[in-house]
Amino acid sequence: MKKWKGFLSSFLVVFLVVMLAACSAGGQDVSKNASGNSTGGKSGKLKIGLSVGDLTLERWQHDRDIFVKEAKKQGADVLVQSADGDAAKQLSQIQNMLSQGINALVIISVNSDSLSPVVEQAKKQGIPVVAYDRLINNADVDAYVSFDNVKVGEMQAEAIVKQVPKGNYFLLGGSPTDNNAKLFRQGQMNVLKPLIDKGDIKVVGDQWAKNWDANEAMKLIENGLTANHNKVDAIVASNDSTASGTIQALAEQHLDGKVAVSGQDADLDAVQHIVEGTQTMTVYKPIQLLATKSADVAVQLAKGEKVTGDSTINNGKVDVPYIMLTPIAVTKDNVMDTIVKDGFHTYDEVYKNVPANERPAKK
Ligand code: BGC
Repeated sequence: MKKWKGFLSSFLVVFLVVMLAACSAGGQDVSKNASGNSTGGKSGKLKIGLSVGDLTLERWQHDRDIFVKEAKKQGADVLVQSADGDAAKQLSQIQNMLSQGINALVIISVNSDSLSPVVEQAKKQGIPVVAYDRLINNADVDAYVSFDNVKVGEMQAEAIVKQVPKGNYFLLGGSPTDNNAKLFRQGQMNVLKPLIDKGDIKVVGDQWAKNWDANEAMKLIENGLTANHNKVDAIVASNDSTASGTIQALAEQHLDGKVAVSGQDADLDAVQHIVEGTQTMTVYKPIQLLATKSADVAVQLAKGEKVTGDSTINNGKVDVPYIMLTPIAVTKDNVMDTIVKDGFHTYDEVYKNVPANERPAKK
């Protein structure tokens, strides 16, 4: 009897090991090339998984559309999923993608600090991982494609300081779980710190908007205005969705257009606010470039090729090759030469609410 039990348990162990191996290969026909990367499913066509943090914000829809188009052009299919701003949902979606025979995984993270387990799992399966726009910390990531995010923060603060060199500032950060939000703040402080130390700028509020949510931003600014008896001269908002919540809160107090507000992304309503005078600036980050470059990198990695960056960035575990793109600061003065010229938004869309006689000439 004892012998039988021993035999049965060793049989079970062997059986489990075999099953686990089959599961980690995703149960798919994914062959591996010399570098250990998968080279395609049955059809031989490359398949890329794109995990988007939150498709409800305007900018990420552009990212997805361009990425998918570009990858297709290069012969790869893309499996897209949106986590709706939910970090746990993103983890399970990625786990699911890893069982679908993908050859590369591209992640726009919800929480930059919580993805190590799935990145590790991907690496075990020989699937390379690209951090798209947002760095993934403490994980063996193959490439990071993004803009110079510290520069983005510097541009935001510079434009606000130009309009309001002295006064009461409210700092409105983005999602506290997004590594980019920290980089933007770092850039903002590079510009603001010397002026704070000099006493020209007084910080009267400092908050972070969960999930970059516009409503959350509105509430934070409503409270900030109340706490300061409306004596706020400038609001350093870290992107356009938080800027839009900010402008709504200012409008309730008839302060819109009187308080400087920054942003980023060149969302249509932000660009309209800029030409109407209620938002000071936005940062235009040509998504076309980012998405195209990321698709190139993902396809290259999926084929088992090596990718080199413009520099590297340490994520707490490895030096990740960093493909760094340049952002562009946009105010009323250069909307035409940047956003309209590139066709990011059309002239008619941008100047929709501006009376015809106050619009610049169409180029
Ligand atoms: C991006 C911004 C965006 C924000 C909210 C950041 O990681 O860099 O462009 O506005 O996320 O989606």
